Amino acid sequence: MTNYPHAPSVCPLCNTNIAGNACHAIGCAMMRRTALTKRHDGIAKCLHAFFERHDLPSQLEPRVDGERLKPDVEVVINGSTFFLDVSLVSPVEATYVQRASEDAFAALRSREQHKITKYSEVAREAGGVVVPFVLSSFGGYGEKASGFISTLRSALLAAFDPFSDSTAGDPVAQLLRDIAAATQRGNAAAVMEARNRSGIRGRDAANLIWGRARLNPRHSA
Ligand SMILES: [Zn+2]
Repeated sequence: MTNYPHAPSVCPLCNTNIAGNACHAIGCAMMRRTALTKRHDGIAKCLHAFFERHDLPSQLEPRVDGERLKPDVEVVINGSTFFLDVSLVSPVEATYVQRASEDAFAALRSREQHKITKYSEVAREAGGVVVPFVLSSFGGYGEKASGFISTLRSALLAAFDPFSDSTAGDPVAQLLRDIAAATQRGNAAAVMEARNRSGIRGRDAANLIWGRARLNPRHSA
């Protein structure tokens, strides 16, 4: 991983060592309750809105017998109930970076397993299955999320009316675009918030946030 000489080696918000990690703002623990929660909620809303547009029964933050289930979105597809739990992993964070450098999916898989262990029982009791909808902060999908997208695509294609719109193409394309946009909006908000909260300004902020390697470093006094 590249080192950026002007970026701080310690995050001013969470105090962890971030030397060489130019993308720390989008995975910083101090951002979880604010910008990163909004990013997560934005993606859950994209899913829910897409299901509603396609007349799939869906609930955001589903409740069973009045109790809040932890997974974010419930959807019924061809009689099967799925409880989607949205989460994002930043593979460049210290917890994951070593494994991620060897296997790009390792971090996503480890998060998926954690969510399955956590929610499979509650989902089963509610008559469904849990789908850990895990994304990389940089845009990749975990295997379980990809599997769910395939299920969704097949169901929509099977229900597709060839006389209504023969140029529809991939029925989930709009969902994937919406999720990508929500992820990038959330990342941008996290970067802005990290900059504001850290009190770092100007060139140092740019280096912290974007890891901009300056081609002709001029050392101003
Ligand atoms: Zn931090």
